[in-house]
Amino acid sequence: MKELIDRLVRPEIRALNAYHVPEAAGLIKLDAMENPYVWPESLKTEWLDTLRDVALNRYPDPTGRALQETLREAMDIPSDMGLLLGNGSDELIQMLALTVAQPGHSTSTSLRAGPGVSPAAPLGARILSLDPGFVMYRMIGLFAGMDYVSVPLQADDFSIDLPATLDAIARTQPALIYLAYPNNPTGNRFDADDMVRIIEAAPGLVIVDEAYSPFTDSSFMGLLGDWPNLLVMRTVSKMGLAGLRLGYLVGPPAWLNEIDKVRLPYNINVLTQASATFALKHKAVLDEQTHAIRVERAHLFESLTRIETLHPYPSEANFILVRVPDGQANNLFAHLKARGILIKNLHGAHPLLQDCLRITVGLPKENAALIDALNA
Ligand SMILES: *Cc1c(COP(=O)(O)O)cnc(C)c1O
Repeated sequence: MKELIDRLVRPEIRALNAYHVPEAAGLIKLDAMENPYVWPESLKTEWLDTLRDVALNRYPDPTGRALQETLREAMDIPSDMGLLLGNGSDELIQMLALTVAQPGHSTSTSLRAGPGVSPAAPLGARILSLDPGFVMYRMIGLFAGMDYVSVPLQADDFSIDLPATLDAIARTQPALIYLAYPNNPTGNRFDADDMVRIIEAAPGLVIVDEAYSPFTDSSFMGLLGDWPNLLVMRTVSKMGLAGLRLGYLVGPPAWLNEIDKVRLPYNINVLTQASATFALKHKAVLDEQTHAIRVERAHLFESLTRIETLHPYPSEANFILVRVPDGQANNLFAHLKARGILIKNLHGAHPLLQDCLRITVGLPKENAALIDALNA
């Protein structure tokens, strides 16, 4: 069997490990940027009542029309822009790659933004993003046979290295550029003027990934249409509906019409359509929760700052990146886990993340437990 696997499975797929999600049963879960708050009982009852009439025997509405209308209203989506739904924004990232990829023109499995990049490959061969960043841009690009161009952020504050980024764009001519705004796993929000320079220099699409929009006041949504190559991607995951798997892409209709062609016909199931429509009609409840997370983020940042050996980075997301003393990340991670707290250990994930841990903002009592454990 091994021989056949080696012959059939592409080497770059064989070299991967399947996406690993750590077991969290019984632990305080501060690892995955989830909203820790639940709904009031009365709202749950009302939600379950709406599910009673969902036709499980029928295929879903193929474009999720009712959900689209509710989303447009709830999220202030410009009426002249197109809207496309994905099974999480991960699926949208996949659809974008499938739309533009030109497999076979890949020059290597991992392309670094350095000299020696062949300029001969066509536009659809490459994805560019800034690292440390969201790993799915690279992973999904690889699945689709695209090369990944990685441009490092600045070491001190994770801001954009604009000259290096513009240079990499000019040399590698990427079809897709992803800018997470705010960025994961660093939590900072990039300079908007730098982003505009990138949009204007890009030969292809620039996707501003606003997964953390509930936790910041800044957005590119209002700028859609100013450039023909700008798209905005969002998700309901981080605002409190991670279990539903729903992402959305907004941009010029001509682009979204093309990307829609690679969408699987019924990608948003009936329960997600009904539940998300219901939840977005009660968005005030979610807004209250995400507001509480923002307040709690400030408290947690304060508490982390007070622990002398830790260096927390300012965040406009629902998590905080923390640099710990030299060589202590693995120990601290294990110590917290032994005390029942699961966070994300980023030590080893990227050279700029040495000695770094990422902590999702939890309930006040969960954050207090974390601080107690760190002090111990
Ligand atoms: C979490 C996250 C996503 C993925 O969101 P889903 O809709 O849950 O797939 C996308 N982009 C960034 C930057 C994220 O951190």
